[in-house]
Amino acid sequence: MADGERMYINGEWVLADGGATFDVTNPADGTVVAKVANGAGPEIQRAVTAAHASFSAWSQMVPKDRGRILLKIQALMEERRDELARLVTLENGKPFEEARKEVQFSLGYFGWFAEEARRVSGEWIPSPQPGKRYWVFRQPIGPVAAVTPWNFPATMVTRKIAPALAAGCSVVLKPASATPLTALAIARITEVAGLPPGVFNVLTTNRSRLVGAQLLTHPLIRKIGFTGSTEVGKGIMQAAAKQVTRLSFELGGNAPFIVFDDADFQPALEGAVAMKFLRVGGQSCICANRIYVQRGIAGRFVPAFIEAVKRLKVAPGFEPGAQIGPLINEETRAKVHSLVEDAVKHGAKLVTGGQYLNGDSYAKGFFYAPAVLVDVTDDMAIAQEEIFGPAAPILVFDTEEEVIRRANATTYGLAAYFYTRDLTRLVRVAEQLEYGLVGANDATGYTHEIPFGGFKESGLGREGGHEGIAEYTEVKSVVVNLS
Ligand code: NAP
Ligand code: MG
Repeated sequence: MADGERMYINGEWVLADGGATFDVTNPADGTVVAKVANGAGPEIQRAVTAAHASFSAWSQMVPKDRGRILLKIQALMEERRDELARLVTLENGKPFEEARKEVQFSLGYFGWFAEEARRVSGEWIPSPQPGKRYWVFRQPIGPVAAVTPWNFPATMVTRKIAPALAAGCSVVLKPASATPLTALAIARITEVAGLPPGVFNVLTTNRSRLVGAQLLTHPLIRKIGFTGSTEVGKGIMQAAAKQVTRLSFELGGNAPFIVFDDADFQPALEGAVAMKFLRVGGQSCICANRIYVQRGIAGRFVPAFIEAVKRLKVAPGFEPGAQIGPLINEETRAKVHSLVEDAVKHGAKLVTGGQYLNGDSYAKGFFYAPAVLVDVTDDMAIAQEEIFGPAAPILVFDTEEEVIRRANATTYGLAAYFYTRDLTRLVRVAEQLEYGLVGANDATGYTHEIPFGGFKESGLGREGGHEGIAEYTEVKSVVVNLS
């Protein structure tokens, strides 16, 4: 490993020209886990060239055979699940048990899309005039550039590459510079599974501007799949406008979590704690960001929520029983803390947590005591911005109409949750929330079989479901003249 972890281009494991590397660190203790090849212009060109060259044969392979390779990848990932999970915890920091669940979930995208590949069918349409037929079908869109974030180092990768590969596209993946090791391990598995060289390339780099300038705007790249912040997404959208490159975006969120007076108490309580704190310690785009509690249940719910949060175990990810690991870096921790401080300054009350954790096993990591704030109002930054960390703002409401209006008053629209035992209210609220994913008495998030994506500034397009593979295709209409 002296020369660093290599990236995967055209079926070969290569260093960057000149040998540049960047460090991947463990957010739990600051140690350098690996030095990784730091790609630049020449590697970007080679990766795109490889994806372009391999596209033709891969796209023409029959879907069932592409599916066989994807199923092999799925099986190998499952065999190596704990090994992959170890990498996830090392580079991302999340508790090992959570990392295992992530890897197990992530590999399911290969199974789902291996099957979906066989169902990309078209239509034969009767003509309004005699002597003509219309034939409509989908073709793979072409070489794809995929850019992924650090919070789910396995899932964010498979949720994009599985549908792209299934559709017949080749891929250049640029994983987050904080978490490239899981992506490289997945690449190794695709190699063992027999994916042809060049069909999947992993370009590791921490020079994200270069990626924007040279990979995403490359004329041979036909589609960009991006998951990350809304801010970076907007920049990519502008750059892509130059050649109208197709886009799929999974961006930021500001999820409301609504507890009505008639909610089933225990599931609502457990759902709120889990969706706020137990997905990468709150660093997930679908995490509860604003917890709205109806006045009639607040007196019981809020104290129970605070007690539950006090019992959460914050610890390095490999420590048995760890429930919340470190934040990914100091910048993220400082951002969460500044939102907490700002809320307090504007009249919110911090009832537990909300400090840096420093002693003993915390000393060298980015640990933060899970915070609960009450008396929060909608105009505070903590209710308006994506928190992306272990801080829970609690807001009280009176009526259904009021909470729907308040829940929708954001530029984001990714995920929302609500708990009620009134079936008619369940239907009304689910229909009125302006969000791509709505959990009605449920806080477990999406699954492979359903489309996932955001309304408004939370994204474009969908991942998963039938829609997930369609995103990597173009529709072609053929006019057949029989006369
Ligand atoms: P980010 O800063 O937008 O980075 C995401 C990816 O884009 C990383 O690979 C990053 O590289 C790269 N990148 C950064 N600047 C770029 C640029 N100018 N041009 C091209 N690529 C660039 O997001 P993050 O901070 O890693 O992740 C947190 C955000 O992602 C949150 O807003 C969260 O809500 C969102 N997210 C959304 C979903 C979803 O499904 N909707 C899922 C997960 C996360 P580097 O790693 O080198 O910076
Ligand atoms: Mg960032």
